[in-house]
Amino acid sequence: MKITFPHMGNIWIPVKALFDYLDIEFVLPPQNSKRTLSLGTQHSPEGACLPFKLNIGNLIDAAAQGADTMLMTGGVGPCRFGYYGDLERDILADLGINLKLITLEPPDGSLTGLARRIKLAAGDKPWPRIIGAVKFAYGKALAMDRIEDIIHWARPRALNPRLAEEIYRQAQTELDQARDAKGVDRVVRDTRSRVRGLALKQDYEPLRVGIVGEIYTLLDPFSCHDIERHLGHLGVHVDRSIYISGWINEHVFQGLYKAYKDISHHKALAKPFLNHTVGGHGQETIGGAVDFARHGFDGVIHLLPLTCMPEIVAASILPQVSKSLQIPVMTLYVDEQAGEAGLLTRLEAFIDLIDREKRMNRRISDEQTVLGG
Ligand code: SF4
Repeated sequence: MKITFPHMGNIWIPVKALFDYLDIEFVLPPQNSKRTLSLGTQHSPEGACLPFKLNIGNLIDAAAQGADTMLMTGGVGPCRFGYYGDLERDILADLGINLKLITLEPPDGSLTGLARRIKLAAGDKPWPRIIGAVKFAYGKALAMDRIEDIIHWARPRALNPRLAEEIYRQAQTELDQARDAKGVDRVVRDTRSRVRGLALKQDYEPLRVGIVGEIYTLLDPFSCHDIERHLGHLGVHVDRSIYISGWINEHVFQGLYKAYKDISHHKALAKPFLNHTVGGHGQETIGGAVDFARHGFDGVIHLLPLTCMPEIVAASILPQVSKSLQIPVMTLYVDEQAGEAGLLTRLEAFIDLIDREKRMNRRISDEQTVLGG
């Protein structure tokens, strides 16, 4: 068995750690690029969502490098993600590429079913070793989340944001190379101290923007034109509603582990605006926006692939959240046609808007303090 899996941002780091630990042969497809997308688009249904097209591109590449098995996670509810694995396998079979599919999802909520599939993917290794591998890989996911957050902090504050990017790249490489839990902790510590060593802007208080939306576009920089990096270089502190460990915990472990930044309250926060599930992370998108508003963020950006139903529902509700909690919200659709230049123009306009609003609110509150309201 030579296993592969599609990319989604930095998720390759923990998944690779899992396979390395278990001594399983695997193929890491080349990182997402325009070539991956055009390959995937060529062989996907036109209306398929962007993550699906990128998955197809990754799997074709991996098969060309000798992969014979694909590892996917599944999902339930009114979103296409639950069908991804089967559909991708069938599309590839039509192209003459026959990959065996292993889907990591608890079928009908049964954890024994999930355990069986994990054992299958792990090449029938003994359970203690599998559990050790899962713990180690999940530790890397948590570390990656911490590192991303450290970089979110550094980008807008560094005098030279490119140095923050260098620290980020170094952390990715070192985390990939870490061979034990101590090594993983050391990477996070070293990243923190390198960021402490950066020359920072004096008395700079950045605008804070929360990013919510469809999980793949949130976690995968290629699919959203690296919006976090652009915002950081525009002097904005970014946070997002979900990180890799949160996604793995929800999709594979059914909430058994502790994820970086707990978002289990997001569904409850969404209830006054959307009180039932709409598939994918539509409800969490609303809850995430409410959470950012409550924590005093200056704006929210909603990211979604063009044909994503759950997020289209969320997009139709976010104007109410924006109005009732008085937080500016911008929705950005991404697909294979979207260009980086257009995205940058919209980001700059949004940042100008929230900056003006913030200054105006500060002036009004200063007036009220001095002159009385
Ligand atoms: S959430 Fe949207 S983009 Fe993601 S798989 Fe479902 S339909 Fe596609």
